[in-house]
Amino acid sequence: MMWSVRRWIQTAAVLISNAYLMFPFTRTIYQGKLKAVCTPGLNCYSCPAATGACPLGSLQNFYATLRPGLETGRLHLGLYVVGFLGIIGSLVGRMPCAWVCPFGLLQELINKIPSRKYEIPRFLIYGKYVFLVLFVVILPAVVVDDFGYGVTWFCKYVCPAGTLEAGIPMLIIQPPLRELIGILFYNKVAILLVLFILMVFVKRPFCRVVCPLGAIYSLFNRASAFRMVHHPDKCVRCKQCYHDCPMGVRFYEGANQVDCIRCLKCYRESCKYGAISYEIVGIPAQPKAPEKRLLDMPLK
Ligand code: SF4
Ligand code: SF4
Repeated sequence: MMWSVRRWIQTAAVLISNAYLMFPFTRTIYQGKLKAVCTPGLNCYSCPAATGACPLGSLQNFYATLRPGLETGRLHLGLYVVGFLGIIGSLVGRMPCAWVCPFGLLQELINKIPSRKYEIPRFLIYGKYVFLVLFVVILPAVVVDDFGYGVTWFCKYVCPAGTLEAGIPMLIIQPPLRELIGILFYNKVAILLVLFILMVFVKRPFCRVVCPLGAIYSLFNRASAFRMVHHPDKCVRCKQCYHDCPMGVRFYEGANQVDCIRCLKCYRESCKYGAISYEIVGIPAQPKAPEKRLLDMPLK
């Protein structure tokens, strides 16, 4: 089986984001200078091999420390994270989800297990905005202790990437931590297991329904410098783009929908009619020559 360019880039991103291979010897997480830099994809800060910071964790931290930050004027770290996400979103929208997110790659690989595949009810795709507003912004900022500090709710109570990349590995390399296992950990393991099962039957369930990072990037999809383009005059609504899309996007209903992660699979492989292209700051890329024409459609 030939690996696509995207698969190579995804794999390289996983390795670069998790390049601290000394952790089995040091038995702790990497805390060097690179940890001050966010990775564009979901990659837990507390993963023993992680070389960067998770933008989602950093954003929650910003809201969890907002009150003390406002009092002391120390908001630069949080503003850096907001700016980082804003710049990436403005340039490419949700593209990091397809190309550099380790948890996105994991879901795609698990979905390759042969099985019947199911579609999710469409209203569920709005779940990620609920997780974003509630678990990333409101709860960390509002539920605070006596000193004004909140906690990172999404990391603490939901994030399956954290359980997989940090919680379980840390229990392996730090046996004394096992004494601290409680209901919280079991709850997160249950979330991870349910998602693992769903990943077999549903395309990228976490990205489409839960991920607040994808929710943030998705807000930029229609206005980013890089945009997908649909040509309705060439589209025969064969739905091949939908069948091949790793996010279950119906491209023929419009380009740059919130779940389009700009993987380019529909452009490069699916659409034989030249009905899909992309543009950068409004400048159209060379359209792909159609392999078929409307007239070639078989009569039903
Ligand atoms: S694959 Fe191309 S022609 Fe077919 S529905 Fe999608 S955009 Fe239209
Ligand atoms: S619509 Fe096309 S570019 Fe967007 S995620 Fe689906 S296959 Fe990839």
